[in-house]
Amino acid sequence: MKTIILESGRCAWGKCIFCVMSKKKQVRIKSKDELKQEFLKKLRDYKGEGVKIFNSGTFIDDQQIPREVRQFIFEELRKRGIKKIVIEVWPGFITHEKLSELKEDAKDLEVHIAMGLESANDEVLNKIKKGTTLKKWEESAKLIKRYGFKVRAYVMVNLPYVKDIKQDFEQTMKFALQYADSIAVMNTFAYSSYAELFDMWLKGEWKPITIEEFKEIVKNYQNHPKVEIYEQDYIIYPHFSEEYKEKAKHEIKGATIQNLTHPYYEVWQDFISRFYKLPAIKKYALFMHCSYRKPYSRSQTHRKIISYLQKLGKKYAEIHQLIISNPGVVPREFEDKYPFNAYDWPEYEETEEIKKAYVEVNAKRIENYLRNHQYEKIFVYLKPGSESLKAFEIAAKKLRLNWINVLDEGRWKDIKEEKQAYVDDILLEKMIEKIRKEIEKKEENFI
Ligand code: SF4
Repeated sequence: MKTIILESGRCAWGKCIFCVMSKKKQVRIKSKDELKQEFLKKLRDYKGEGVKIFNSGTFIDDQQIPREVRQFIFEELRKRGIKKIVIEVWPGFITHEKLSELKEDAKDLEVHIAMGLESANDEVLNKIKKGTTLKKWEESAKLIKRYGFKVRAYVMVNLPYVKDIKQDFEQTMKFALQYADSIAVMNTFAYSSYAELFDMWLKGEWKPITIEEFKEIVKNYQNHPKVEIYEQDYIIYPHFSEEYKEKAKHEIKGATIQNLTHPYYEVWQDFISRFYKLPAIKKYALFMHCSYRKPYSRSQTHRKIISYLQKLGKKYAEIHQLIISNPGVVPREFEDKYPFNAYDWPEYEETEEIKKAYVEVNAKRIENYLRNHQYEKIFVYLKPGSESLKAFEIAAKKLRLNWINVLDEGRWKDIKEEKQAYVDDILLEKMIEKIRKEIEKKEENFI
């Protein structure tokens, strides 16, 4: 099956709290020609079994996908011998009129109509603003079948307001299996500040469950012929709209508790510790300080550190650079993502109280990160006596982890008063030497 995303206009319902439509005010309406061309471009030379069209709303809503475009799509599928099409429809559009029209347009095709069921609990449906009830969903499913189409149900695990996740899932599957020909099960996630659910995550009122927890809940349906499990879909790093960036502009500046424990960082740290997967090539962790300039790699200090690390040749790619700063642990690949590229923490504003809080908060974040991410070796290039090093030491001790200090303390004592001591050439040379030796030591053990 080929998946095609064909978005145009706003979903006519547009209120489900887990959906970006719940807060997005403007969604561009594309012209008929644009939609046709986009469809052809995305379809490419595909001639397989079928296509799924995701249009963030209702495929048979003329305001989103005009009838002429739908007819064009169906015709294109027939021409190519593609037999099956899966479309999305909000139950509010399941009427005799719309289904007869679809029957006429999609003749010779096997049409699967996907409707979000999410949970077989009316109270939950009401609270997540689904705009439908179990009764309406059931009636819609029956009507779809009367027109000879297939019913596809979307089921979501771990929605907010659900009291018992497992029980809700089992109850929902029991209901869905009665009416649906196929069921897509998804792990609820909110990656964008355009979804109301994202606000609940920011406020600590709801939390996504990990892929492992999700798998455990759905395991009895793994091989069910009607069920498809989507464990990773929509698990994407947190995205913030311009409005959210503007709102937090002053909050993420200054050495304050607010800037240390800002909800934007908390959601990011939760994502990084529980959902982010290490790039396969990364074998060695290297913890280091942040820089005033953002993204960090544009600063003179980071540029210099990177240039030394590159002396490791092929091994350079295996080093995972992790920056410790007031937002927490920042893997290098996220350094240009908001808010990591926009905050400011002036060290000269730090009080003893804030330093203590920094250590406590970051020790926990580093612990969470290292609990879920394993490396062959952990290197640390942090200034002796710094709060980041103190936080790291607490986390490593708690997890009983071995780590290697690659900042040469002897050299540090001699130069620590100098302005750019952290990137002193001899200090960096020694860092590289130590890392190289440790990597070689590890490789020797395998011979
Ligand atoms: S019906 Fe679908 S597209 Fe519309 S708001 Fe709900 S989830 Fe989003």
